[in-house]
Amino acid sequence: MTPSVAVVGAGISGIGVAYALRDDDVDVTLFEQGREVSGRAATRYKQGCTYDYGANYVRTEDDWLLDVLDNVAQSGRVDIDEPVWTFDEIGTISESDREQAAKWTYADGIAQLGKELLAETDATVHRETRVASLVRTGDGWYGYDGSGREWGEYDVLVLTPPAPQSADLIGSAEWQHPHRRRIREQIESIPYRTVISVVLHYPFELDRDYFALVNEDKTHDVWWCSREECKQDHVPDGESLLVVQLSPDWSAEHFHDDATTLADEVASLTADLVGDDRLTDPDWHDFQHWRYAQPEAGLDVDATKLAAQHDLYCAGDWVAGRGRLHLALKSGLETGADVARSLS
Ligand SMILES: Cc1cc2nc3c(=O)[nH]c(=O)nc-3n(C[C@H](O)[C@H](O)[C@H](O)COP(=O)(O)OP(=O)(O)OC[C@H]3O[C@@H](n4cnc5c(N)ncnc54)[C@H](O)[C@@H]3O)c2cc1C
Repeated sequence: MTPSVAVVGAGISGIGVAYALRDDDVDVTLFEQGREVSGRAATRYKQGCTYDYGANYVRTEDDWLLDVLDNVAQSGRVDIDEPVWTFDEIGTISESDREQAAKWTYADGIAQLGKELLAETDATVHRETRVASLVRTGDGWYGYDGSGREWGEYDVLVLTPPAPQSADLIGSAEWQHPHRRRIREQIESIPYRTVISVVLHYPFELDRDYFALVNEDKTHDVWWCSREECKQDHVPDGESLLVVQLSPDWSAEHFHDDATTLADEVASLTADLVGDDRLTDPDWHDFQHWRYAQPEAGLDVDATKLAAQHDLYCAGDWVAGRGRLHLALKSGLETGADVARSLS
């Protein structure tokens, strides 16, 4: 019988697992709680604008990964030529003296990458299907959604939701083995940053020499502010769209602010930083609260080995140890290869 693999989560790492298994005799099924795939590599389309409000761009100098990326979405690649500059605690902006490595997104936004990788596979994708609980039997893994519907049985299970959510799934699993607790504790111990992303749109062009400003010493309330109009065809001519990411402390403190208060406060912070009073008054705004934005450590290798003894694998930026799109993809590809080896 053809072996079966269930992947919880269709972010870039879950898609990477499916991509790595695309030529193997394996049935891969992805379960994604959202309406769309690609997770935190997220793009929205509004009033003629395309904007990346999670991961803002891809950047890697890893040849192995560049080879994979060269095979997909090449025609849609949108290079960002303007540099990233820095600012300090009091908002003084400096040209960065760091070498500016190539960075890019895609014509349909960063989410296009995951969609195109997925299109290369035969994987079955169940969207709007949240895996709420898991059962481990002697034969395999079963998943259940919120209404109690059973999705199973699978020979191998791959978990890709952010670590706290993956730890919850392991913690609540019907699985009688002492390793369950150890694996859960290791996953649960990975710390995360919370980040609010605020999108500010203006009906005028902002004339600056940089693509983005980053607070490298992590002392300002704003950590990142980028101009989506630097991405070709993402913003109509004569308009400007800023993506502003707030520091974890600021984000936690303002997590429950209402939308208008949030937009007003962030527009004011942005106007001060960029040095243009007009920015206090966007004509529309949007936002996203990322409770689990980026991990600050990686999964212990022992936990990975322990899990594999039970046909359980983990993939994602929290396995890699850093919140980076290319690392999440690499983790998914490597995990897919590990799964293939275990089934051969
Ligand atoms: C604000 C922000 C800015 C960033 N900027 C950059 C950047 O500029 N460059 C860069 O390289 N990286 C950046 N990153 C990091 C990058 O987005 C992530 O590292 C990467 O997208 C993680 O992919 P993943 O597959 O590991 O996780 P995710 O993308 O989180 O995928 C996990 C998926 O699992 C799904 N899921 C969760 N629980 C369940 C469940 N129970 N059942 C079914 N599905 C479930 C989720 O909906 C999600 O789609 C940024 C992240 C954020 C939040």
